[in-house]
Amino acid sequence: MAAMSERAPAKINLTLDVLGRRPDGFHDLRTLMQSVSLCDKLTLTRREQPGLGLTSNLRFLPTDRRNLVHAAAAAFFARSGLTPPGLHLSLEKHIPVGSGMGGGSADAAAALRLLNRFFQAGLSHGDLEALAAQVGSDVPFCVRGGTQLAEGRGERLRPVPPLPACHIVLCKPPFSLSTATVFSRVATTRFTWRPDHDGALRALQEGDLRALSQRLFNVLESLIPHGQREIADIRSVLLDAGALGALMSGSGPTVYGLFSDPDAAHAVHEVLRAQYPETFLVRPLTALPDDGAP
Ligand code: ATP
Repeated sequence: MAAMSERAPAKINLTLDVLGRRPDGFHDLRTLMQSVSLCDKLTLTRREQPGLGLTSNLRFLPTDRRNLVHAAAAAFFARSGLTPPGLHLSLEKHIPVGSGMGGGSADAAAALRLLNRFFQAGLSHGDLEALAAQVGSDVPFCVRGGTQLAEGRGERLRPVPPLPACHIVLCKPPFSLSTATVFSRVATTRFTWRPDHDGALRALQEGDLRALSQRLFNVLESLIPHGQREIADIRSVLLDAGALGALMSGSGPTVYGLFSDPDAAHAVHEVLRAQYPETFLVRPLTALPDDGAP
């Protein structure tokens, strides 16, 4: 059998609001999410040994049951009633781990799409999204991709007009933030400012990148300890270089800037990359990369 691959695009949050804590311990969110062209790659091959093996190019990443790819595969096999024959998944990571760009969720979603395609299991997008919700809050978005307004834990998705074409500089400072730790500070915080979702949706409707950029807002930014000044510093560098707007993505620490001018984006990409190796120049994706069905 020839190898079969699926790309797993990262996401950024254009807005992120925390509406409250739910009885199940999760938080109710409202967030505009956008897929970008920085992708991991998952490749499936057959192997002699029964069961499902996983390897990754990142030595420190767990490849046992702690990896969300395994969680997704377990959900897929439980739902489809299939038994994994000898299969091997090779995960090529490009999305920095613990960066706020949802790499683990992207990989889990890619695993669901890939297994559905490989076994011709015929699960619909809706079925895959329901499975995805069992695996993690951001996974349903990653199954769908593009530009979506996510609510609930992140599993209630509504397609919205795409982010206008632009250049996005992503910059991850050299530390990671745990989503759980950042969210644990929500309980003791009263947010003074919240995102203007109506304004952001209007800007998307009108295809107005500048107006959208002025409405980038993430309530979690105020929860980042002051010691981690690099987040504010990177944002200033991006804005000084001509970004129309800049924001921390998800629970951080990646900061991104939106540019209409490709030269400005290229220039600041070079400047930031000299200091922060995990800096990327990417584009928004209006849909998932076309690796196959569904
Ligand atoms: P989010 O924005 O959804 O909060 P993130 O980008 O901050 O996610 P990830 O890189 O998705 O963070 O995951 C961080 C944690 O998840 C790490 O502790 C890592 O060990 C674990 N993890 C499990 N599976 C994966 C995977 N396939 N890729 C990356 N991390 C994974």
